[in-house]
Amino acid sequence: MKYQRFRFVPFIFVLLTSLTFSAITLAAEKKPAEEKKPAAEKKSDAEKKPAAEKKDAKEAPPAEPEKPPVDYSREAQMKLPADKRWKGEGEMLRPRPKVVTPPVASTQEKPGSPPSDAIVLFDGKDLSKWQQRYAKEYRDPKWKVENGYFEVVKNTGSIYTKEKFGSCQIHIEWRSPTDFDPERDKGQKRGNSGVFISGFGEIQVLNSYENDTYPHGQAGGLYRRIPPLVNACRKPGEWQSYDILIELARKEKDGQNNRDAIMTVLHNGVVIHHGRNYGGRSDPITIGLQDHYRPVRFRNIWVRPIKDYDEEGTDPPAE
Ligand code: MG
Repeated sequence: MKYQRFRFVPFIFVLLTSLTFSAITLAAEKKPAEEKKPAAEKKSDAEKKPAAEKKDAKEAPPAEPEKPPVDYSREAQMKLPADKRWKGEGEMLRPRPKVVTPPVASTQEKPGSPPSDAIVLFDGKDLSKWQQRYAKEYRDPKWKVENGYFEVVKNTGSIYTKEKFGSCQIHIEWRSPTDFDPERDKGQKRGNSGVFISGFGEIQVLNSYENDTYPHGQAGGLYRRIPPLVNACRKPGEWQSYDILIELARKEKDGQNNRDAIMTVLHNGVVIHHGRNYGGRSDPITIGLQDHYRPVRFRNIWVRPIKDYDEEGTDPPAE
């Protein structure tokens, strides 16, 4: 019994030894795992290094393939959109814009003169550029020409240009009669005429100075469709002007420069329509002036064809 209390000592010894061994084993297993981490980091560094080397390789100037020389000939460059032509070293080779002497503005007393490249449709002398539609046929106009202007002779018929035009700038001056009866000649009855642009309708000519009517029928209105943006009308008896810009629709096979037809109109220098879209209208236009039974007068009429950029340019000056 004396040594009975020590009978578990061997077991405790064995247990402690076993636990110690297990702890050492675990520690040993853990150690390589911890060592793996820096190994992984090392691997990551090892991966980065070649990446950095690759970056250096990219920055190094690559062997450039020889570019074919740019063709700066007009034929080649005109195939490109206008903002892509004659770039870089070729910029001084671009055709120079055609020189045009600008118009001299008219005064109330005297018509001005057209720009140097204008096609003059009335120079104050005759109506040889116009024809009159009468009984479904055309004849020489019966309107009155005097003192540098011509005047509608009622019931003789509207007049039209013999020539047709593509995209163009049109200048027309007109004057409303003063001899109207303010009580009888109201609205559409006061100084009615019109500018016909075939395919684009009528731009109304009317005395719209303190004379009310439906807005899309007043002076500058696109008749029965769109009123002018503002009423810029002068008094009857004063000369007024329309400047009309027509751009016909263009359709090309590659579609690169396609566009719709548009019209812009200025009345006495004031914009009354800007860039109105007329869809696919591409037929050349005639210009007409309306016989609406009122003695409206016209003078200083001219038209300038509008060409594409570079189309009419001249070669660069010789060096
Ligand atoms: Mg009219």
